[in-house]
Amino acid sequence: MLTFEQHINEPKIAYFSMEIGLNDNIPTYSGGLGVLAGDTVKSAADLNLPFVAVTLISRKGYFKQSLDENGVQKELPAIWDPSALMVAAPEKLTIEIEGRPVVLQAWIYFVESLRDWNVPVIFLDTDLPENSPEDRGLTDHLYGGDERYRLKQEFILGAGGVRMLNKLGFEIKKYHMNEGHAAFLTLELLQEHKKDIEEVWDEMYVWDLETVRELCVFTTHTPVEAGHDKFSYDLYNSVTGSFFPEKVLRKLAGEDHINMTLLGFNLSNYVNGVAKKHMEVSRHMFPGYKINAITNGVHSYTWTSENFKKIFDKYLPGWANEPEIFVRIGVIPDEELWAAHMEAKKKLIDNINSSTNAGMDYETLTIGYARRMTAYKRADLLFSDIERLAKIGDGRIQIIYSGKAHPKDIEGKKIIEKIFAYREHLKGKIKVAFIPGYNMKTALKLISGVDVWLNTPLRPLEASGTSGMKAAHNGVVNFSVLDGWWIEGHIEGFTGWAIGPAPSDIGPDNNINQIDADDLYHKLENSVIPLYYNDRKTWIRMMQNAIGKNAYYFNSHRMMRRYVTEAYIK
Ligand SMILES: *Cc1c(COP(=O)(O)O)cnc(C)c1O
Repeated sequence: MLTFEQHINEPKIAYFSMEIGLNDNIPTYSGGLGVLAGDTVKSAADLNLPFVAVTLISRKGYFKQSLDENGVQKELPAIWDPSALMVAAPEKLTIEIEGRPVVLQAWIYFVESLRDWNVPVIFLDTDLPENSPEDRGLTDHLYGGDERYRLKQEFILGAGGVRMLNKLGFEIKKYHMNEGHAAFLTLELLQEHKKDIEEVWDEMYVWDLETVRELCVFTTHTPVEAGHDKFSYDLYNSVTGSFFPEKVLRKLAGEDHINMTLLGFNLSNYVNGVAKKHMEVSRHMFPGYKINAITNGVHSYTWTSENFKKIFDKYLPGWANEPEIFVRIGVIPDEELWAAHMEAKKKLIDNINSSTNAGMDYETLTIGYARRMTAYKRADLLFSDIERLAKIGDGRIQIIYSGKAHPKDIEGKKIIEKIFAYREHLKGKIKVAFIPGYNMKTALKLISGVDVWLNTPLRPLEASGTSGMKAAHNGVVNFSVLDGWWIEGHIEGFTGWAIGPAPSDIGPDNNINQIDADDLYHKLENSVIPLYYNDRKTWIRMMQNAIGKNAYYFNSHRMMRRYVTEAYIK
């Protein structure tokens, strides 16, 4: 394994992300963005890339979900102990916040690959006795607190992160911002590269924008407006003091307020969205910018169940580090593919039956839905016409749900309560289970143990979506609205099924919820259910296609190779 000295001897790509989901022992992620960041780091390690990641320690995690019998969500802190898993670097630094010096330390965690390589992840932490109680809490809550708290966190991540890398001795050749949270790093870099000139006519001139742009890469992750952080200049000045002149910043981040995405765009030579459709949507949101597309992928080894790992090892050796080998999926005999799936399914069903009174069985077509619970994902679309669903699915389907709502997302929380109510309503007809505490472990069990993976977002708000890619790695077929990655991965009746019209066929006054729900019921009744029960051979063909066509492409090894050739080496 690489030693720390070897790491700092080679110029690195520094990847900044507010959240990173590596495993559930380090609960510093909330959902797709963080898990993607974790998969990115893992693939960087597997591909022997010179890479270092920077994030916050989030000592109280995102939160632990508890649900009462009506599905009312309560949030408990997910406290964890970094010292059990990583070491604190002896180097500390101070960063000025609200005029006070705040001491910052770094925990270093090594993500090890199977091939004698590792990638350090730097977790920034202010919980030190030198700091006031308030400042000690600045790196506690992921996406918690008010605007001021968030701005401080982003200042620590961006500016503090760059300084910490310097302090630790890293030489950085590219800074990759995973979403706008880290965009203050550009201001720190502008300070570092300030031109040394005596007389200036235009104050813009001392800032070496070109050099900083050469250093920066920016990935935007959502078309949802709330996903693009905005701060007032008053708040910025009060938190960061005279860190970077407001007058210049207004030209880079927006006249009226600081738009973190805009700041990232204006100081990056390479900008991308996370699927082709998302690139188009982002170009509309930010006219005038050259926005590229690198479609997301998932880390194949992480997101393959033990049962599938076994048959992949037997028939497709080398698959984990070269997922292109999935192109040869046809060499696995149908019976063995089906048997591996049934093993994973049994594990999931046993798990559910022992923790709930759902009484699920192994033979029934099982539909899974799990992701962050938030309005645009429409987790309750399946229940739009509950009588129709009951008629179609009575005795033929069972449904498993999971997902957390952000503590302040009232609508998201209501959706969980609605699912609980529908579960009661469908008793005796369709078994419905809701697994509390969605995390990476639950995700793996679910995406590998159901037969069909359902996704019903409101177009075009699902930038990419990644859980469907995880399902595909386990031969689980996708049944989804055509948005994000599924536009690229879907071949009707071959890799899975679409729900509703093509994105281009949606008029502005269409009653899209109704149209999508109609199509969902129609296909469930006429395609998905009959195929599952009456034509197992074709079903297995579709499972093969999920692996051979979807997992083959939508993995983070392919994604990282593209970041290297299109964004990093330029
Ligand atoms: C993969 C994953 C997500 C993202 O799923 P989407 O389909 O992109 O919404 C969220 N949370 C967890 C725990 C995951 O593993």
